[in-house]
Amino acid sequence: MPITVAALRETAAGERRVAITPEMAKKLRGKGLRVLLERDAGRAAGFPDASYAEAEFADAAGVLAQADVLACVLPPADAVFAGLREGSVVVGQLRPYGAAGRVAALTAHKLTAFSLELLPRTTRAQAMDVLSSQAAVAGYRAMLIAAEASPKFFPMLTTAAGTIRPSKVLVIGAGVAGLQAIATARRLGAQTEGYDVRPETREQVESLGAKFLDLGVSAAGSGGYARELSAEERAAQQQALADHLKSFDVVVSTAAVPGRPAPKILTAAMVEGMKPGALIVDLAAESGGNCELTRPGERVEHGGVVILGPLNLPAGAPLHASEMYARNVFNFVELLVRDGALKPDFDDELVAKSCLTHAGETRFAG
Ligand code: NAD
Repeated sequence: MPITVAALRETAAGERRVAITPEMAKKLRGKGLRVLLERDAGRAAGFPDASYAEAEFADAAGVLAQADVLACVLPPADAVFAGLREGSVVVGQLRPYGAAGRVAALTAHKLTAFSLELLPRTTRAQAMDVLSSQAAVAGYRAMLIAAEASPKFFPMLTTAAGTIRPSKVLVIGAGVAGLQAIATARRLGAQTEGYDVRPETREQVESLGAKFLDLGVSAAGSGGYARELSAEERAAQQQALADHLKSFDVVVSTAAVPGRPAPKILTAAMVEGMKPGALIVDLAAESGGNCELTRPGERVEHGGVVILGPLNLPAGAPLHASEMYARNVFNFVELLVRDGALKPDFDDELVAKSCLTHAGETRFAG
């Protein structure tokens, strides 16, 4: 009996992505695996059941009862784990931080769970790196949302009714999402600057044709990530940034420190110093926000400045986000299968570091 790789219809509010696309179903079949989907699993992403030539379909309970590997985009309700057979594998963004109940349920049902956000950011892991693929979608969408919500045009326009100056856009945090946001702002014709505390981002920002905003604070951490700023560094950053913010029409903030709440970079006083009509799109809203006025999922107006805290941006471009995500999942599942059987190699750091639970044991240190 071939290994059954399965996916359910995602149930998180507003979620439209799917973990297995028709293209990946075909590739899984090509590897000798069986693909089983809940009916309509891909519909919201733009993949009706008929587009999956290589998959079988069942209701949710039927899928769970037969799944050897359950692939998901976001963690399903804990009750779903009870429907899986002991020893089955769960692969996806399982969001284990602050989710002790979920990790306990996976352990109790003796499931082998892999949380793809925990993959090390190594060259070999790049093809499975869901943080990168989905952050790229988020950065792109954040800038489109900004362009749509801003009362100004992004590009310079020369018309019979006069010349419109281009918008000035600042992107705070030049990681994967920030760089994609910068690239998108440039394509829309805005005068774009990027800022980050990791010095190596200067070259990356400049290579996109944007200007690097140097505030004189450097905080490179380990593994290519930023570290948390000290109180003095934070004060210095805020002082320097406050002066610059006055000139920007749009700020898109994407700053994050892994495993920590988002750094608070934009204070209420700094927002009060911005131009009326200015706009902040806070992509870090999900982890608390980079602006202290951000309310996740809401629009806040403060002294004429609008602050948006959009959530789950990748779900808003579900077709391409799913295509990228499903490729990441396929590449990871491929790693778990040897000679047609599921044999995770726990000596492989990609397998070991992403493993949350295995054989009734919790491996996630938190
Ligand atoms: P992230 O989402 O953790 O953070 C976003 C950005 O915010 C980062 O660039 C970070 O430096 C910045 N930041 C944090 N605190 C800040 C502050 N106080 N002020 C301003 N900026 C702040 O980062 P990410 O996008 O996931 O990636 C970060 C790094 O990982 C990059 O170096 C990237 O190239 C690297 N990476 C490597 C791989 C790989 O090799 N497989 C894959 C993806 C990313």
